[in-house]
Amino acid sequence: MKTVCRLAATSVLCIASLAAAPAAVLAEDGQVNVYTYREAKLIQPLFDAFTNDTGIKVNMLSASSGLEQRIATEGANSPADVLLTVDLGRIQDAVNLGIAQPIKSETLDAVVPAQYRHPDGLWYGISMRARVVYASKERVPQTAITYEELADPKWKGKICTRSGQQIYNNALFAAFLAHHGEAKTEEWLKGVKANLAQKPSGGDREVARDIAAGKCDIGLGNTYYWALMLNKEPDKKAWAEATKVILPTFADGGTHVNVSAVVVAKNAPNKANAMKLVEWLVSEQAQRMYADMNFEYPVRGGIALNPTIAAYGTLKPDPIAITKIADHKAAAAKLVDKVGFDN
Ligand code: FE
Repeated sequence: MKTVCRLAATSVLCIASLAAAPAAVLAEDGQVNVYTYREAKLIQPLFDAFTNDTGIKVNMLSASSGLEQRIATEGANSPADVLLTVDLGRIQDAVNLGIAQPIKSETLDAVVPAQYRHPDGLWYGISMRARVVYASKERVPQTAITYEELADPKWKGKICTRSGQQIYNNALFAAFLAHHGEAKTEEWLKGVKANLAQKPSGGDREVARDIAAGKCDIGLGNTYYWALMLNKEPDKKAWAEATKVILPTFADGGTHVNVSAVVVAKNAPNKANAMKLVEWLVSEQAQRMYADMNFEYPVRGGIALNPTIAAYGTLKPDPIAITKIADHKAAAAKLVDKVGFDN
């Protein structure tokens, strides 16, 4: 059976037909099947380089949601070898659905700090993104800020954000909980809510758009969206140019960092090739490509940052482990509802 599944539009059907076949058929020499949240066109050059290095062909299924559920539904016959996922929320979903298999890799353990991987090897972070403040260049003179300060009444009517239940905000609020506990987090969320210029809406790019339009002065966004708008999205470049990125910190910690991670699927038909791919993804070459293509922070030390990302200033990541933050996700979601953050 040939598994040529390169583009999202066609590979949905292609993989669906694969799933009905016996697992043995799916294990083909020299291939690895990757399910990814990354846009196919963004990640293709990376896989091409891997194929070039190893001779292993990468079949890709790309989607913007539901990949963990898909692998769970496909069960024992799933063709998925590797899941490339973003955000600790999705990583936790993969673990909870039981689709991840524990892997052991000296290469990965040597490169990926313990803070950014699962203690039993169910997932490894391969790059990082930070949740930061986009601020009006014109109206916000300050160059430093804490997350705690977002609740300061001085920002009344001046903050924009996407939904408090969206995975990136949920992770940030969970990290706040990990630092400050429930009572203080509830008070803080009430304060931030009271400072909102408008009902939470849109995505991170729209926060920059609304700051540029004068609807608000500051807002929350991920580091890579701002770099994408500036460098790759000509229609949104003006939104980046009207704003600046401030790396906020917790008063008693650092900047909230989330990860993009790799998971080796529990029923991976090509496990040996899956291991080669995930180890290759932390190589110097792959980490450099990843940093430049996706505007993320490489998890491997000593790799040059993309210049736009470097210009934000020196990232001082918060030391709380991703798994600890994930433990507070449900409580954070409850508090968001309790204070009516999105109403
Ligand atoms: Fe994103």
